[in-house]
Amino acid sequence: MRLLLVGRGRMGRLVESLAADYGAEVAGVLDRASNAGGSGATAERCRGVDVAIDFSTAAATLETLPRLAAHGVSLVIGTTGWLAREAELREAVARAGVGAVVAANFSLGANVLEAVSESAARLLSADGYSAFVHEAHHSAKQDAPSGTALALRRALERGGYARAIDVASTRAGFIPGTHTVGFDAQAETLELRHTVRDRATFARGALAAARWVRGRKGWFTMRDVLGLTLTS
Ligand code: NAD
Repeated sequence: MRLLLVGRGRMGRLVESLAADYGAEVAGVLDRASNAGGSGATAERCRGVDVAIDFSTAAATLETLPRLAAHGVSLVIGTTGWLAREAELREAVARAGVGAVVAANFSLGANVLEAVSESAARLLSADGYSAFVHEAHHSAKQDAPSGTALALRRALERGGYARAIDVASTRAGFIPGTHTVGFDAQAETLELRHTVRDRATFARGALAAARWVRGRKGWFTMRDVLGLTLTS
């Protein structure tokens, strides 16, 4: 499997270092210097590339990924902060007939948290519990709330939680990515928490997604890749 990296910062470098474990090789890199305004996503750059793995910036994602899709490259999208313009990316993927796996969080634990939160909302929402999401990250993280926190809120809504959900963020120092979903009632509190200790978990998830999406068409999430389905 031949990969194109979009963004070679902290995450891109980790993906590069772990690619061989997934039978993949990095055939090219687009970074800030080589891809102003998405200009690096040329037909020549895409020749022989199976999947692009994107950990860049929201602006770079929106400028670059539709062009890569148009050249027949499938996408693994890890960048966050572009959700308000999701329709554009979905349309580009559908028009090009490629596959895309989109996840604000590629770790297995966070995806299980999302599935379990949906089930918990289904079980608790009728009983007067207040739901909340809190996330904390290092001070270099640009978007707030995190994409994962927004995905958790959507999971609670899918589970049938119809009232407003308080979503709060903390940015300080070197805090490892931490997401808490809580349900509070007069007599008790339930908290479900995921904490990242090593960012390699995201890189491994993205590489597994790249292997999975190769040859598939459509818009997928990490829950499709992991086959996570909870029914109650
Ligand atoms: P980083 O700042 O270390 O790296 C970002 C990279 O994007 C830099 O190398 C920069 O040069 C590059 N870039 C900027 N403009 C570009 C352009 N026009 N074309 C190509 N590349 C460009 O950030 P990071 O920690 O690697 O995180 C990147 C993104 O991934 C963020 O949005 C972050 O929230 C997200 N993230 C997602 C997950 C997940 O599991 N989905 C995990 C960690 C981080």
